[in-house]
Amino acid sequence: MQDSKSDLQILNRFRQLCQRFGIKLTYQRLEIFRVLLSSDNHPSAEEVYERVKEKVPTISLDTVYRTLSTFEQLGLIRKIHGPDDRARFDPNNKKHYHLVCLKCYKITDFEWPELDNLSPPESINSWGKTQNYYLEIRGICKDCLKKEE
Ligand SMILES: [Zn+2]
Ligand SMILES: [Zn+2]
Repeated sequence: MQDSKSDLQILNRFRQLCQRFGIKLTYQRLEIFRVLLSSDNHPSAEEVYERVKEKVPTISLDTVYRTLSTFEQLGLIRKIHGPDDRARFDPNNKKHYHLVCLKCYKITDFEWPELDNLSPPESINSWGKTQNYYLEIRGICKDCLKKEE
């Protein structure tokens, strides 16, 4: 069961974001946003579609693609590459890194404040102008390790 308080929080947050970015708040967009926020696995467009369909049966995969791309352009979400090369979507705007399971392809957030405070080595300045960096740690998650036993 969805708890109504967090539902209201999501709605309010989404309403603020729509105002800030000047996009129309539609039921479909809200449901897509809700699925992204309530998923802990950086879903693919197809996974978002499957879950949104439970509430909005008339939605098309194309609408989900277009909405995700609008959200991405506005900076509401980030598109990342999954270990299977499929695009996945990340609604967490806080600085964080990813743990990637190579068996089940689950992507889990983690924070690493010590790393945030490190500067890259000066030797890379001769390469060109850098903008940002991204760290991903790959391995096998504990659920998959348990299954292997
Ligand atoms: Zn796994
Ligand atoms: Zn993430």
